[in-house]
Amino acid sequence: MQTISFYPGPSKVYPETVAFFADAHKHQVLSSNHRSPEFVEISRSAIQALKEKLGIPQEYWVFYTSSATECWEIIAQSLIDQGSKHIYNGAFGGKWSDYTARINAGKRITQAYPFPIQEVMSAQKIKAQSSLATDTFCLTHNETSNGSTLPAECLPELRRLFPQSLIAVDATSSMAGVSLPYQSVDVLFASVQKCFGLPAGMALMVCSPRAIAKAQALNRQHHYNSLAFMIDKMQDWQTTYTPNVLNIYLLMRVMEMVPPIQEVEARLLRRLARYEQSIEPLKNFGLTLLIADKRHRSKTVIAVKGESKIIQQVKAAARQKGIILGNGYGKWKEQTFRIANFPAINDQEVDRLIQFLEEDLPKIL
Ligand SMILES: *Cc1c(COP(=O)(O)O)cnc(C)c1O
Repeated sequence: MQTISFYPGPSKVYPETVAFFADAHKHQVLSSNHRSPEFVEISRSAIQALKEKLGIPQEYWVFYTSSATECWEIIAQSLIDQGSKHIYNGAFGGKWSDYTARINAGKRITQAYPFPIQEVMSAQKIKAQSSLATDTFCLTHNETSNGSTLPAECLPELRRLFPQSLIAVDATSSMAGVSLPYQSVDVLFASVQKCFGLPAGMALMVCSPRAIAKAQALNRQHHYNSLAFMIDKMQDWQTTYTPNVLNIYLLMRVMEMVPPIQEVEARLLRRLARYEQSIEPLKNFGLTLLIADKRHRSKTVIAVKGESKIIQQVKAAARQKGIILGNGYGKWKEQTFRIANFPAINDQEVDRLIQFLEEDLPKIL
């Protein structure tokens, strides 16, 4: 019996990547020089396919980085002018805030605005909290640690209320899974081991023309990954260091393969509805969705909470059936399990998990 992983990162990679890897080997991509015309063509095509499939505006720039964590660092070093404000309700947003505070200590102000997980965030609330001149807002679009997301209107509304500020968004577990309001944000990034269905070790950072202009105006040049340097290289579709050429190739092939994001999202929403339906009766065993309000419940990461003993039992029973559920994360480590609702997971695999939730679990608990 083949085990199925519903772990929300690193998560299931598209099975097609195996054949793509073989193609990469055959076409000598693996040993190609990252300044060669062959690499430039792959890089250009990957970014082109990414923009087309995800609906990223043509005038936006895309950069390759090593991880979402590196993107936090780049933003702190290259884009925050006077101060940043971090709005978050979970572990990833919190870490981003902490790293920024340490990197920018003594140079720039870092304001943390943590909020409770059952609260639905809004641009108006952020405005009411904004006393000091913040030039960069940092938000986590999809908080992988607890299965919450920003309500749909939050980012467009924030753009309207703060037309001059930079809006930076960590969309690591939602980019390539759901459509995102690129027009309303300046920096949006994600590592590829979640909704992209690619092997870990790379991230993508999308920047608006305004973000590019700000990086160039600040022109900070202290790091290998200073955005000013990255812009220079990306004029020719290149990077400041030897990049993950294989993953860039796989990104190109996967982006050429997948349907447009609206179709991907519609499919994930149908699955989400099925999961919600099969989890509902589990309330008899004290298992409920961690995020109660649908308006800010994630579409790509489902967190189910319960007594830690029951959570242990569920995970063990699933493992017996060849199903790997995601552990809880951070504060919710013991009292939740998580299900990745990512595009690379196929319908048969979803069917198996639904069957487990509906038929097997009630017998075990
Ligand atoms: C997984 C994750 C990260 C960390 O990604 P790395 O690639 O390990 O840096 C950051 N933010 C969010 C929201 C995540 O889900």
